[in-house]
Amino acid sequence: MRIVVLAGGIGGARFLRGLKSAVPDADITVIGNTGDDIHLFGLKVCPDLDTVMYTLGGGIHEEQGWGRAGETFAVKEELAAYGVGPEWFGLGDRDFATHIVRTQMISAGYPLSAVTEALCDRWKPGVRLLPMSDDRVETHVLIDDPEGEGGRRAVHFQEYWVRLRARVPARAIVPVGAEQAKPAPGVLEAIAAADVILFPPSNPVVSVGTILAVPGVREAVAGAAAPVVGLSPIVGDAPVRGMADKVLAAVGVESTAGAVARHYGADLLDGWLVDTVDAEQTAGVTAAGIRCRAVPLMMTDTEATARMAAEALALAEEVRA
Ligand code: GDP
Ligand code: CA
Repeated sequence: MRIVVLAGGIGGARFLRGLKSAVPDADITVIGNTGDDIHLFGLKVCPDLDTVMYTLGGGIHEEQGWGRAGETFAVKEELAAYGVGPEWFGLGDRDFATHIVRTQMISAGYPLSAVTEALCDRWKPGVRLLPMSDDRVETHVLIDDPEGEGGRRAVHFQEYWVRLRARVPARAIVPVGAEQAKPAPGVLEAIAAADVILFPPSNPVVSVGTILAVPGVREAVAGAAAPVVGLSPIVGDAPVRGMADKVLAAVGVESTAGAVARHYGADLLDGWLVDTVDAEQTAGVTAAGIRCRAVPLMMTDTEATARMAAEALALAEEVRA
C-alpha cells in the first residue's frame, strides 16, 4: 500500500510513528512543510522536516516533541556571550550539526530534497521524506503595529510562534514565495501514485495549508484517484497542543473539528476523523459531503496513535468502496 502524508512538525511526526506501527509494510511518502524554515546564524534550519526525521529516526527529545534528545547548549551560550542572537530560538549543539551539514550541502549546490535524503541516510526514518518544495517559502504572520505600514507588521512565523508565543492576534498568514514555488521532485508523482492520502493532525493553516499553497499540490490532491482522509488536530474546540486556534482565527475559521473539515472542504477531503468528545460534530461534516466518524484522537502513546492510523485507513477503504 502506498500512503502519502502531508505533515507538519510534532503532530505530523507523532502520527507517522503510529502509522508505521499500524502498517509496517506500507510504502510511506511524507511531504513535509518547509514554510517554517528559517535562516539563523547563517544556517538553514528546517524545523518540521527535522522533527519528522528525528522522531522517526529515534533522535527526538520525547517530552519536548522537537529537538534532539540528550541535547547540550554550549554553542548557544557562546553565541550569547558574543551578544549574537536571536536567543529565543533554541538550537542545541547536536541539532546545530544537522543545520551545518544541510547548509554546507545547499551551498555546494544540492537542492533541499537531495539534502534531506542525505540527512535521512543517517536517521533511516523508514519513510520517504520529501520537502514540499526545493524553493524558498517562508510563512509570515501579519500582526498589529501602530508604527508599521497600515498599522500592521509582518514577522517570520517562528518569531510569531516562538518569540511572541502567539500571544498577539494574527491578522493574516502569508506564505511568502509560495506562488513561485514548484513542488519538489517526486511530490506530484507520489500523490498521483498513492493508494491513500492522509492529513495527519497537523496545523491546518501553517503546516498542511502551506503545503497545499505550493502551486499544483492542492490540485493534485483534489484530483487524485486515492481517497483523502484527515484527522482533526482540534479536540474539544481547542488545539491539543500549540496555538493553532490563533492562526485559524486569522483565516476566519472557528477552532472546532468540524470547522477545520469544512475549511479543507469536500473537494479535498473524502473522510474526516474527529475525537469522541466531538461526536456531535460528525453530522455537520457529513452534511458538507465528507464522510465522518468519531474515534479517540489523543496520541498518548504509539499504540493509541496506531489505532488512530488504522481508523483513518479503514475510513479510506470505506470511501473507496
Ligand atoms: P508543528 O509543526 O510542530 O506545530 O506540528 P504540526 O503542524 O504537525 O501539528 C500541530 C498540531 O498537532 C496542533 O494543532 C495540535 O493540536 C495537534 N496535536 C498535537 N498532539 C495531538 C494529539 O494527541 N491529538 C490530536 N488530535 N492532535 C494533536
Ligand atoms: Ca511547524
